[in-house]
Amino acid sequence: MSEPAIPEPAIPFPRRSVLKAAAVTGVGLVAGGSLVAGSGGDVDNVPVELVEAKDAWFSQRVWSLSGNKVLLKSDGSPVPPITLARRIYRPRSAEEIAGLVKSLPAITPIACICGGHESSNAAAFASSDAVVLDLAHLKSIQFHRDGEVMLVTVGAGVVFRELVEAVKGHRCALPVGTGPGVGVVGYLVNGGLSGYFSRRLGLLGQRVVKLTVVTAEGEMRVLTPEDELFVAMLGAGSALGIVVDVTIRMEPESVVRGAEQRVVAFETRAQAVEFARGVLRFMKVHAFPDESVSVELVVTGTKALVVTVVFYDSFSGNVAEFVKPLEDMAGSLKLPVVAKSHWASWYETAAALWPVIAGQKGNPLAMLQHCMGTTGIPDDGILDFICTTVVAEAPLDEAALSL
Ligand SMILES: Cc1cc2nc3c(=O)[nH]c(=O)nc-3n(C[C@H](O)[C@H](O)[C@H](O)COP(=O)(O)OP(=O)(O)OC[C@H]3O[C@@H](n4cnc5c(N)ncnc54)[C@H](O)[C@@H]3O)c2cc1C
Repeated sequence: MSEPAIPEPAIPFPRRSVLKAAAVTGVGLVAGGSLVAGSGGDVDNVPVELVEAKDAWFSQRVWSLSGNKVLLKSDGSPVPPITLARRIYRPRSAEEIAGLVKSLPAITPIACICGGHESSNAAAFASSDAVVLDLAHLKSIQFHRDGEVMLVTVGAGVVFRELVEAVKGHRCALPVGTGPGVGVVGYLVNGGLSGYFSRRLGLLGQRVVKLTVVTAEGEMRVLTPEDELFVAMLGAGSALGIVVDVTIRMEPESVVRGAEQRVVAFETRAQAVEFARGVLRFMKVHAFPDESVSVELVVTGTKALVVTVVFYDSFSGNVAEFVKPLEDMAGSLKLPVVAKSHWASWYETAAALWPVIAGQKGNPLAMLQHCMGTTGIPDDGILDFICTTVVAEAPLDEAALSL
């Protein structure tokens, strides 16, 4: 068994104390998950692009609506969802963001939109006194080196499809998320776990070496791991500052050997539950004890069970033999394997779920994957519980507007 590639970072202080210190010293106030502006100025004279058509903006930038956000009129028809934000700006630089924050009346809530994929849509709905910063113009991706270490600096408007395509050209790898339209910074500041790659490459946040942020006072700061605010930002959403760009340490693409994907069709929910039960048993027996692989199952609203097995550089077995029990299981449940895919690189694996997700827009799905950091092997009771709750109850086709 190989050693984990990324050691847990040593965090010399409890995260809660950082948040408290940040709030007390005025770096930012944690209020409803948003940063609250701490300065004041003349908001009407800010030379930053203003979004006029807020309703059109909302429908373009929000990827999917949660079912609990769909309000009904008295006749049962849905109320068109709109943002409550007072103003929406599209800044083009750190300087524009800093100038804007300085110009806002004190205690104005500020929300950021990067990829627009947050399932609660809290930042996009905002509140009537809030200002939303749509960071879509901040699309820069720059590659550089620090000695032998390959780095990429990513602007706050970049989404995973753009980053993955760019990283491919440099023959590198990163633990990216599966959604092509998910914002890189939105993912990072909210935890960001890669079911495909985190077992080998750690969390994307563990690879960050530098953050450029704008604070509640409109101060631009470059944070490195020595700064208290650095660790707090990687998990605090937009509560503590606005991330302008992030610099991330990459690995050579050879750390990932490739992946196998099998798509199995199902008709009834009971069939999905039984197949999921089998996949979790497969994970328990074949994948959990073997750190050279990772397994993910996605159950879609279009009645497909998508199993992806990712093989890392330390895998020395036979790929076809490794996934054969999954095909045999589908056969024994009389479920057809409708697609078999083989991918031979990090890039192809990173893009493996893009077509599935494109077909899922507006539809919910259930996803079972490896969680790095867990220790031990779960017993069958826990695996059965997951199947009879998550897979059996997920609103796969009942809630057309939910994710
Ligand atoms: C199809 C799909 C696939 C997904 N796959 C994965 C996955 O594989 N792994 C995983 O961990 N998660 C995954 N997610 C969840 C996703 O990572 C989170 O919902 C993430 O927060 C979305 O980021 P966003 O930028 O797209 O969303 P947004 O709605 O734009 O932003 C999300 C949050 O981040 C804050 N934020 C955004 N930009 C900034 C900034 N520059 N500075 C400060 N705060 C900011 C916003 O204020 C907001 O609160 C997936 C979600 C979807 C819909």
